[in-house]
Amino acid sequence: MPHAAVHFCDETDVLCEDCGYILNGLAEAGSCPECGQPIAQSLGNHRGPSYFEDAPSVRSFIVTTCQVLFRPTRFYRSLATRQASVQAVRFARLHRGVASVLFSFAAAGHVCLNSTMKAWARAFFNMLWERFYDEPVLFWLLIGPLSVIIYGLLVVVTRVAAALTSRLSAYQGVRLHRGVVLRGLGFHSATYVPGALLAAVTVVGYIAMLEYQIIIDPWSPGWASFRNFHSLFGGGCILCLVYLLVTYRIAMKNMMYANR
Ligand SMILES: [Zn+2]
Repeated sequence: MPHAAVHFCDETDVLCEDCGYILNGLAEAGSCPECGQPIAQSLGNHRGPSYFEDAPSVRSFIVTTCQVLFRPTRFYRSLATRQASVQAVRFARLHRGVASVLFSFAAAGHVCLNSTMKAWARAFFNMLWERFYDEPVLFWLLIGPLSVIIYGLLVVVTRVAAALTSRLSAYQGVRLHRGVVLRGLGFHSATYVPGALLAAVTVVGYIAMLEYQIIIDPWSPGWASFRNFHSLFGGGCILCLVYLLVTYRIAMKNMMYANR
């Protein structure tokens, strides 16, 4: 893209919410000259804080989560983008926390199922291991540190994604400041939970089936083999990653021309 074509929009510029055309100085009663959308629809009167920010409670937390998961376009289209709130931070932290614990269940289960990783974890918890020579103990010991590590990773991934998104959009002339991206990604963190739940249920479910001898020999070929379990887990991971990327795109697309 030639540099001259890049226009860095100002905070004060009024953009068409539909196509991003700059509407500065045009009458509010008119329409966008580029796409024809009424200018009144771009002024941001339909945008406001999320339900959870408005009235924080368990109910509004669940409702807001459902809006993010099942009606993302509608949610990000009605969200005020330029404000920050303690509630929004709390919303993101809670979801990251829940996702981290669920992911750590999947990871700890993997360690216990994988002999090489188990030897490594045994060395790590050597002292305790000698005292309680038991696999479930190792599993529960791993939950705490793994949750902390995964939570840290999610925070790092969010910050890197926010920095890259705002830089790339600035380069392309799109108005997506870091604060706006971070706000969007904060709500987007709710989408980690379904994937984390799926991972935890898959791994812990497999362990339970081994424990209760529903699966007798995981090494023999068949529906319950280790091989199939790994394919199922890998497939689930790819699906969740696609879901994360699609919802991330929906979030940014519906926030980038917001005027409020
Ligand atoms: Zn337009």
